This record gives sequence, structure tokens and C-alpha cells, in this order.
Amino acid sequence: MQLCNENIESVYLMPGLLKFEHDCLTILRRSLIAMAPEEGCALLLGTQEKTTKWVKSPIWNVKKIWSCKNIWHPDIFHFSTANEEEARNDQSVFSRENRFALDPKDQLLAQRWARENRLQVLGVAHSHPQGDPMPSDSDLRWGMSPGLMVIVSKTEEVRAWWRFDRSSQEHQEVPLITNE
Ligand SMILES: [Zn+2]
Repeated sequence: MQLCNENIESVYLMPGLLKFEHDCLTILRRSLIAMAPEEGCALLLGTQEKTTKWVKSPIWNVKKIWSCKNIWHPDIFHFSTANEEEARNDQSVFSRENRFALDPKDQLLAQRWARENRLQVLGVAHSHPQGDPMPSDSDLRWGMSPGLMVIVSKTEEVRAWWRFDRSSQEHQEVPLITNE
């Protein structure tokens, strides 16, 4: 995963539970899988329960799925490691079928809409049209840190992850529920 994350508000405390309201989970699955064989991507907009002395693992409520364009292309970012550089020379290795980048315009629009509707950008979702819903090495290296990442697999399984730190690639699963 590669992500222009400078436009996304940072939310630093890991949620105890991610709750998809209304039909958000269905919309997320449909909109991301519709992009296959390319990876689809979206922003998750919603609210956060406040962390207090009593609430240490707040619930985050997803209230709207903001579909985004996957604008990844080989020259979109400067590759920083030798392996990436090497792989970059082989165009068959990286493509939008295994990489994504959010369109910064989508991010700005989502952020503005969220603010106007008293919501926050909670995290990023993307699909693995060829694989499972586990974060890949590049997801852990390039994603928002710390931050929430939701992945939809080729079988439409959805799992949520919290990325603690980019350098250690430490991450933990966030339980999710839906009222569907
Ligand atoms: Zn990924």
C-alpha cells in the first residue's frame, strides 16, 4: 500500500471496536470489489467515542464510505529501499493490482465533507483482489502510522488492523461488528 497521508487527520489511540453502521459494510465490500482486478480504496468516515478514565478502548462508528480513485502508478512515489528500486524495474511486479494510492483530491473532499457533517476521517480501506485480508509488508511500511486500516479480501472477508509504528511494522487486529 502507498498512501498520500499528509491530508488525513491523524487519530492516535487504537479503537477497542470498529462498528459499521447502516449498510456501510456492504457498500464497502461492493465498491472495493467492483474495482477488481485492481485494488479498490476508500476512506472511512464516522465518529469516535471519547477516551476517558473509564473508556480506554473507545468504539469507532463508521457512518459513511467515501470511495476513492486508486491513482497508483510506478512513478508516484520515490522508492526508498533497494528491493523496491529493483522491483520497480520489473513492471510486472507492481501495478494497481497489488498497490494503491489515494487520490489527494478525494482525500480533501472527504475531509471537507466530514467536517461539514461533524464526522472524522477514521481510516483507510483497500482491497486485496488476489489475496487475504492481512496487511502486506508494503501496507505496513507505507500506511498511516499510527492508524486504522481495513482490508477486504478476494472472498470479501473484511478485517480491521491498527498500525502502531512504521519502523517496527507492529500491528494488531481491531474487532469489528456490523448491524447487518
Ligand atoms: Zn494491501
